[in-house]
Parts: sequence; structure tokens; C-alpha cells
Amino acid sequence: MKNQLIIAGPCALESREQLKVCVRELNSLGIKHIRASLWKPRTHPGWEGMGILSLLTLLEETLPYGIVPATEVLTPEQASLIVEGLRSYDHRAPMLVWIGARNQNHITQRCIAEILASGGEGIHLMFKNQMWEDERHWLGIFAHLIEAGFPSERLLVCHRGFSPGRLPNPYGYRNLPNFEMAKRVKEKTGLSMLIDPSHIGGTQANVFRILEEAKTYPFDGYLIEVHLDPENAKTDGKQQLTFVQLKQVIQMRAAAENDKQMR
Ligand code: PEP
Ligand code: MN
Repeated sequence: MKNQLIIAGPCALESREQLKVCVRELNSLGIKHIRASLWKPRTHPGWEGMGILSLLTLLEETLPYGIVPATEVLTPEQASLIVEGLRSYDHRAPMLVWIGARNQNHITQRCIAEILASGGEGIHLMFKNQMWEDERHWLGIFAHLIEAGFPSERLLVCHRGFSPGRLPNPYGYRNLPNFEMAKRVKEKTGLSMLIDPSHIGGTQANVFRILEEAKTYPFDGYLIEVHLDPENAKTDGKQQLTFVQLKQVIQMRAAAENDKQMR
């Protein structure tokens, strides 16, 4: 069975203690990547994450335990801070950085890519689809990042659904998936394609539903939100899974992959 890349963790980093427990849980599940955003884009004004002051905490509480940190950057300044922070911690350290759905200024995207390309070779860059449903735009992000000099071997792509607008949406998904488009983008770019069932689904129940719907598609892994106490999470509480639920997801995905191999 081809190994699925699993990136699991809280929507946002909330404290050092949260990270410690989360890393322990992920290690016990054999998961090697943790998501924990330092900067949170918000639909309405609210808490925006712990910011750069917690970068060192993120590195200290993950890398020595064999876990690769993953976080979103929104600006070139944030990308520079990550590159500098990693360089002074350990210039060869692995880290995954992503460009999110709301960050669709290609000048900003290209600057981020250039800055990250100038950092250590352990840096991988993932880009999500934009908020609106448009394959050309999604492929355009890829073209811009490549043109800005980011090596394709260290690029990944992630499907997080599109703004629902007025389309039928019987389960109340936060964003509507287009698995066929994700499949084409994977083929056309040649990149590993992850799915983000958390930001598509918007609720715990929908996260399971999305993974079930996606199971026949060739996703290479998933980016998924998990929290020690989802009800009291500072952001995205409704869609963050508990660790017990994450374990169910892993079993479900492994079974689906096995089915695919048998066919
Ligand atoms: C996230 O993954 O934390 C996030 C903000 O997602 P998106 O860019 O898909 O809205
Ligand atoms: Mn989130």
C-alpha cells in the first residue's frame, strides 16, 4: 500500500502544553506531520493566532520528537521569519509551509515562493485551491510558484473545496469539493494531492462523510484538524476531531486504500 501523507493537528497553535500533548498523541498513532498555524486568517475579526513569537516553541516541541511542523504563511514577511527561524534553529530541519485559500494575490504568492526557495532544502511548500471554483486559476498558482523558482520536487497541492455560493448543499458543507477537478490538477501538475476534509466539511460528522465520498479518488494524503478539546478550541471548534475520531479516520482510510489495491 502506498503510504498516505497525514498532516494532523490543531487549526491553530494555542499553547506549548497543547503542542506537547498533541505531539505525543500523533507519535502514538505513527503520524509524522503536525499542522499548527501561527497566523490565522479569519472571516470575521477575532483571535489571529500566536504569531512569530511561538515559532521557536513550534520547532522545539516537534522536531526533536521526529515530527515535522506545518503552518500557513500569508505574507512574504512571515515567510522570511520562518526561513530565518529555521536557519538559526537547524538549517537542515524539515518544515511544511502552505499558502491558503484566501491568499490569492499572485505577487504575494510568488514572493513567498522565492523566499522559501532561498531557505533550507527541508522546506516544502503546499498550496491550496483558491476559494472560488476555477481550474485555470488553481493551475495558475502552480505556474506562478514554479516560475518564482520553487522546486517542483518540494511542492504539494491540497484540495479544500470551494465557497458554496448558492449551489445545492444538502449536508451544509463549509466548502464544496470537486474531486474530479482535484484529480485533473494532480495529473496536470504531477504533484502529490492532499485533501483537507476539515475545511470542506466544517463539522466533525461531515469530515467523515467527505473522506467516505473521496475514497475512490487518488488523494495522496490528508490535512486534518484535531484538537484535545474541540469544543473549547479558539478557532474552528466544530470541525476539529478528537484523537479518538482521528484514530477512526486512519483506520477508515487504510481500509479504503487496501480496497483500492485489491481492485
Ligand atoms: C487552514 O487550513 O487553517 C485554513 C485557513 O484553511 P483554508 O485556507 O483552506 O481556508
Ligand atoms: Mn481551521
